[in-house]
Amino acid sequence: MFVFGKKIRRLEISLALFVFLTVCSFAGIVSASDGSSAQREVINQVSLLQGLTFGDYNGSVPVGQLKELGDTGIGTFDALNGELIMLKGIVYRAAHDGTIEAVADDETVPFSNVTFFDTDEVVKLNGIDGINVLKSELDRKVSELGVNRFYMIMAEGTFSTIQVRSEFPQTKPYQPLAKVLETDQTFFDYENIKGTVVGLYCPEYMSDLNAVGWHFHFISDDRMAGGHVLNLSAGELNVSIDRTDSFSMVLPDNEMFNSFDLTIDQSEDIKKVETGEE
Ligand SMILES: [Zn+2]
Repeated sequence: MFVFGKKIRRLEISLALFVFLTVCSFAGIVSASDGSSAQREVINQVSLLQGLTFGDYNGSVPVGQLKELGDTGIGTFDALNGELIMLKGIVYRAAHDGTIEAVADDETVPFSNVTFFDTDEVVKLNGIDGINVLKSELDRKVSELGVNRFYMIMAEGTFSTIQVRSEFPQTKPYQPLAKVLETDQTFFDYENIKGTVVGLYCPEYMSDLNAVGWHFHFISDDRMAGGHVLNLSAGELNVSIDRTDSFSMVLPDNEMFNSFDLTIDQSEDIKKVETGEE
């Protein structure tokens, strides 16, 4: 009887261990090779937006390495060669001529924000009549979930209108971003187009490292259109929200970055390059 009881206990223990390990691997705690460890809940940033606005378009992180830091995100490429959209683990370029391509792993990135997307909330939004309406709807959600955290969102649906921009690749010596965009950005307007807006929310205290609030990039379902979003409207959007509680940053190591005077306030320039507004 006693021996039998011990056997049962041992069986219980190994069953418990088995269940524990199974739960861990389902929760993605055991494996780390595909980003499925605790690092899934991190917004990974390459460089500072303030470095990019100063004109540091020197790519520092290869696309292949960026894919180890996330499967969803936004950014740009070496020499400012187009807008970066990462969706479902694929890195796309929305180029200055309006074309879209999947980008090879050896191309480098001077600035980007990516994370492994895990949906925490889904919201349906209706009657989005402008980018500021989308921002304020999302802000409302963020104020419920916590304004001082990071969020990545995917807004899917048919956009009644969407205006995106990209930019021409630059040659050295690099000029500040606001100056480049005066002459070298291209705008594209689309109507009734199906696609996904990938958006990043940075909290207020990020003002020295990135743009505070929302930053959206778009890619169409047919992978024929995309870019940095300047305006949009949509009847109905399905928005998946990933609440993210960690932030990590990789700094580039190049002469330009190392000598920037980052005490210079670039907030006006950042507003201009993000929104296209003066
Ligand atoms: Zn952008």
